[in-house]
Amino acid sequence: MTLPRLYFDHNATAPLRPEARAAMLSALDCAGNPSSVHHDGRRARALVETAREQVAALVNAKPLEVVFTSGATEANAWVAGGGWDTILASGIEHDSVRGPVAASGAQQISLAVGRCGMVSVAEIARFAFTDLRAAGRTLVMLQFANNETGIIQPVADVAAFARAHGLSLHTDAVQAAGRMPLDFKALDVDTMSLSGHKLGGPAGIGALVIRDGTRLASFLTGGGQERRRRAGTENVIGIAGFGAAAEAASLGLSGLSRLKDLRDELESNILQRTPGAVIIGTGGERLPNTTSVAVPGLTAETLVIKFDLAGVAVSAGAACSSGKVGVSHVLSAMGLAPEVARGAIRLSLGWNTSDADVRTFLDVWNTVVCARLARAVA
Ligand code: PMP
Repeated sequence: MTLPRLYFDHNATAPLRPEARAAMLSALDCAGNPSSVHHDGRRARALVETAREQVAALVNAKPLEVVFTSGATEANAWVAGGGWDTILASGIEHDSVRGPVAASGAQQISLAVGRCGMVSVAEIARFAFTDLRAAGRTLVMLQFANNETGIIQPVADVAAFARAHGLSLHTDAVQAAGRMPLDFKALDVDTMSLSGHKLGGPAGIGALVIRDGTRLASFLTGGGQERRRRAGTENVIGIAGFGAAAEAASLGLSGLSRLKDLRDELESNILQRTPGAVIIGTGGERLPNTTSVAVPGLTAETLVIKFDLAGVAVSAGAACSSGKVGVSHVLSAMGLAPEVARGAIRLSLGWNTSDADVRTFLDVWNTVVCARLARAVA
């Protein structure tokens, strides 16, 4: 008998939305190169430009500010490699920020997050009034919401500070887009990265949103695509899927309280049933779909395998790093004791999670976690 599978790992990648599937299937039959002037080329160009409008609308940016990339990893690397003298990045950034920052050759300053998992403007000001005097061209990299805990950063406050002190600001908004309203214009950040597959579009497509007037060297030179900012024939199928997913996510923004209710129900039931369980990051604002829960005495790796055998996909720390054993850099930066951090699993819900899914999950939790804890005590 095949068990029905429950997918509680939307922060790793979200299941494809039907709207994205339909848009991609239709784009498969469009033979043109968007740069060609003939009818077929113009059809492909129309798909790309419609998607650009859909992605721009999701984050209230101008369509001309959206540059399609191969994903958020590329978008983050593009910004980090922008020839900065100094980069300030929070200690909880995704590896796709940490790696390029380390390789950038810039002076690096790590911003502490403290127990609450949030960077404060005061933490940035500490550097702004000392080291930054000699810092030269300076970039702050601050994610919008964390992929492991869902904790939301005070990006608007940091942007106001950055603007007042002549610093550039990049935000990796991969996990926030489609899960909370985002307003690129009002935020006044310089750049923002987005990823198709976290919203229910395909993987391998994303965008860097670049504020109109911001100076940033082209990522790839060659052809004149993407207004000469990112050369290479456009991934029309991926772009069409990303656009359709962004539009569906925009329409779903009004229903996000349903997701938060489901997540809250999940958390209160887990806490009631599980002595010693800790929900991480409850001190601040979090995405409505994410729970990071640690069960002291159980290791995350074991739990992920047990849940998988019971038909449920969850993750231990970030999916990209779940192959490696060790404590997540995010939870360490928050000062969590290693025995708590080692037991932390991430449950992330999304557009197709139902009430029944949460009830089924809690039944599985009883078997996988509560029964195991009871055996350990007996
Ligand atoms: N930033 C964050 C916060 C992420 O969670 C991810 C995906 N794990 C990325 C960047 C990378 O996105 P992509 O898979 O599109 O390269």
